[in-house]
Amino acid sequence: MEETYFRKGFGLKAKVKPIIDAEYFSALVERIRSRGYADTFGDVTVRLAEEFGFCYGVDRAVDYAYETVHKFADRRIFLVGEIIHNPHVNNRMTEMGIRFLYPNGSGVFDFDQVTPEDVVILPAFGVTLNDFHLLREIGCILVDTTCGSVLHVWKRVDEYSRDGFTALIHGKFRHEESRATASQVEKHPQGKYIIVRDMEEATLVCDYIADRPGGLDAQEFMRHFEVKSSPAFAPDPDLQRIGVANQTTMLANESFAIGARVRAAMVQRFGEEHTESHYRSFGTICSATQERQDAVVKMMDEPPDVMIVIGGYNSSNTNHLAHMCREHTTTFHIEDAACIDTELGTIRHKPELAATTPERVEMDWLPAGPFSLGLTAGASTPNNKIGEAVLRVLQVRGVEVDMHAIGGGLKNASG
Ligand code: SF4
Repeated sequence: MEETYFRKGFGLKAKVKPIIDAEYFSALVERIRSRGYADTFGDVTVRLAEEFGFCYGVDRAVDYAYETVHKFADRRIFLVGEIIHNPHVNNRMTEMGIRFLYPNGSGVFDFDQVTPEDVVILPAFGVTLNDFHLLREIGCILVDTTCGSVLHVWKRVDEYSRDGFTALIHGKFRHEESRATASQVEKHPQGKYIIVRDMEEATLVCDYIADRPGGLDAQEFMRHFEVKSSPAFAPDPDLQRIGVANQTTMLANESFAIGARVRAAMVQRFGEEHTESHYRSFGTICSATQERQDAVVKMMDEPPDVMIVIGGYNSSNTNHLAHMCREHTTTFHIEDAACIDTELGTIRHKPELAATTPERVEMDWLPAGPFSLGLTAGASTPNNKIGEAVLRVLQVRGVEVDMHAIGGGLKNASG
């Protein structure tokens, strides 16, 4: 019988590596990195965060997608959603002939056009249990690139619901990863989840648990959390026992603080001696996210004059990096190097944390005298886009970079 489920690649890594390197490598980034993450060009000192860009999960997902195109050259290949939240990488997938399946406004995918002869790639954030079963029923070939760190969260949520604990997930309820994680409770008939976006929402839950004055009543609670909790969720029975987990790309400090606040509410409600049977927690921020956030904290010990953060506007980990930088210095979150217009000398960016904040265009955004430029990028941004951003800033500044000397080819190459 034909094998239809793959999650370990096809042994074509050596074949696709030169192609991936050619598309995403940056000689300029490697040079700055090799010089201690800082280098000077004209009157601009460029500093890179010590961890940035593609994480191990994205590396693996991109690798499998390229391997899939080689392995199944004669079949239609679909991707459930975006492989990662990066427009440049997703455009490359389209150019390679991969078709994207997008969800409707309620997050529901329509797999009607997928046939048993097709190949479907599951993204690094995973898919919901229901979508997985639907695709298995179709009988198509599945290439599952779900990141190991996401699977680790799923395991926790599965254990919570198996043991009768409601999974309280710190995440964004519309984000693919949070939806997929929440769906893991469906493995158990009594499984329940509730998703809280931030400390403000966690406090609403905690006030309810501890029955604090001024908190929401049951009806108000459900009005607020209806779309962010399991069907048939009821706060009185379902907030008795809670296991905390999180989307892997949230702000680590906030996730820990939310866990501590939920625990304190349980202590207030049931007493310290009974907390163990009402509260569980397990840090599920992935190490790649943590390392990128730690590198920004380190860089902000001595903040650069201007900071550029590169990554999709809907990329959770990129938004959090930008948010951290904004607290220390002038920060521009751009979704692509092309947001820096070298003709007009402008930068187009998203000025606030919320993914839906409209972009703004700034003129005269670089300091007049010598300045330091910091850069970091979300886990789904390839190095060539970081190198291109550096080159564009230098170009706006009128600084020439000899890419031949650096080893990256032409002067106007993407770095
Ligand atoms: S950000 Fe973390 S969980 Fe997400 S793909 Fe990368 S390594 Fe995996």
